[in-house]
Amino acid sequence: MYAFEISGIKVKVCFSFFAVVCLTCLLGADSGKVLIMLACCALHECGHLAAMLICGCKPSGMTFYGGGICLVPSARLNSFAKDVFILASGCAVNFALAFAACAAAGELTFFAQTNLLLGGFNLLPAGCLDGGRLLDLLLCARKAKAVKAVFALLVSVLAAASALRGNVSVSLLCVLAYMCFSIFAA
Ligand SMILES: [Zn+2]
Repeated sequence: MYAFEISGIKVKVCFSFFAVVCLTCLLGADSGKVLIMLACCALHECGHLAAMLICGCKPSGMTFYGGGICLVPSARLNSFAKDVFILASGCAVNFALAFAACAAAGELTFFAQTNLLLGGFNLLPAGCLDGGRLLDLLLCARKAKAVKAVFALLVSVLAAASALRGNVSVSLLCVLAYMCFSIFAA
């Protein structure tokens, strides 16, 4: 692991992060597109970071790992309104950037698509994604779990319908697997 500190924030870069980036490039992904995806992930976290600083709380650390980038601590930090603002700010940055990129280029560029996908994925009501954590804040534990289960059921129906048409979507199956795992692991 590679670690350093910026303004009192401990930044850790795990080897799994380098491994995923290298593997993605080795599997034939365009290195320029991989860089754009990493930049979009970083901008998402910058949204959370900016909101945290606006709310007067500073993260103790930032970890780059195989699954992405994670701000520490990730638990509830502030009042209800501040927590909602901090959790929603990452996706808000992605959607704002996607809109700005579309407006500037006059078309849905790869940068805009990546931001839309990243913002949308993080808003899914599942596990420790921003959407799942927002749901946990807004509803009681039992209702939040029920909404997550209903959403997982809808994704299952979508995946089954897509498979019946001959299109097996690997990304949809991965999302479904993650949603089911997060429900049963909770
Ligand atoms: Zn986020």
